[in-house]
Amino acid sequence: MTAQSTTRVTGPDAASIADAARILAAGGLVAFPTETVYGLGADATNGIAVARLYEAKGRPAFNPLIAHVPDIGAAQALVAFDQAAAALAAAFWPGPLTLVLPKAAACPVAALATAGLDTLAVRVPNHPVAHAILDAFGKPIVAPSANRSGHVSPTTAAHVHADLAGRIDLIIDGGQTPVGVESTIVACLGEPMLLRPGGLPREAIERVLKNKLHAAPAAATDNGAAPLSPGMLATHYAPRARLRLNAKHAEPGEALLAFGSVSPADAGRAKIVLNLSPRGDPIEAAANLFAHLRALDSAGAGTIAVMPIPDDGLGEAVNDRLARAAAGR
Ligand code: AMP
Ligand code: MG
Repeated sequence: MTAQSTTRVTGPDAASIADAARILAAGGLVAFPTETVYGLGADATNGIAVARLYEAKGRPAFNPLIAHVPDIGAAQALVAFDQAAAALAAAFWPGPLTLVLPKAAACPVAALATAGLDTLAVRVPNHPVAHAILDAFGKPIVAPSANRSGHVSPTTAAHVHADLAGRIDLIIDGGQTPVGVESTIVACLGEPMLLRPGGLPREAIERVLKNKLHAAPAAATDNGAAPLSPGMLATHYAPRARLRLNAKHAEPGEALLAFGSVSPADAGRAKIVLNLSPRGDPIEAAANLFAHLRALDSAGAGTIAVMPIPDDGLGEAVNDRLARAAAGR
């Protein structure tokens, strides 16, 4: 299913919740209230659905998204909790606290949702409508704020409709969201670090930790291209191999990250070829981007040649991430 030209708005009745779950399962987009702000939900395990979500928001770049789950048990299937994370989850979930943790080996969340990172942001929201949808759907839901990129976060269904009508499938109206600001984000990848202030005050977190929260390096929270300490809070995925962008042809022995049709000559010269989208669809390319980069990197080529990708639609965000991946190594 693609985003509908008409966006339905319904109340949080049982039939609408069932509908929301069906739409999510089909790769569609559903806005719903959480206690912080309205989220724009997509199946976290479906790369195409996640790509559509970025497109609907008009995000110029892929920021990693928060996976919403019904309880700590569901979160444990996605990420590894250290002691601090377990204490914070026990104290504040459900609630406006997001934890960034190492991805579990069998984590089913799509690579695009984490922008290719080895860490995942998870949260258990505290809102009956969000829980009804999570329970009915049965899988993690990524849900950034349900607004166009650069606009303020929506706290009513009317705000969502004003921003996203015609771009998403369904809006579940559950009234005004009580907290009204986004969740507080804490990374537990070593010393707990405050990545974003939000609906849960820092002091409450520090009381549970019996310690001050560390401040995040500036580059860990914004979209700056500054290099970060290895393995920690890297906001940009970078492969080991060199990236050669806008490659018209593959050189012998290079890995080729293709887009659109590939000439037999290039296919022959390349050590390995993976195609982001043989039919030249930027949504499909976005969904495949990080998984393909990783696969080519682990194939051991020194250079990954990346064919030109038009800047249309999600192509702009794909090119943005490719440029950061090329610069970040
Ligand atoms: P939101 O826009 O409320 O969905 O929050 C998403 C924000 O969470 C991103 O812009 C990042 O700042 C942060 N975030 C999500 N995942 C990660 C991660 N794996 N590492 C660091 N920050 C993350
Ligand atoms: Mg937002």
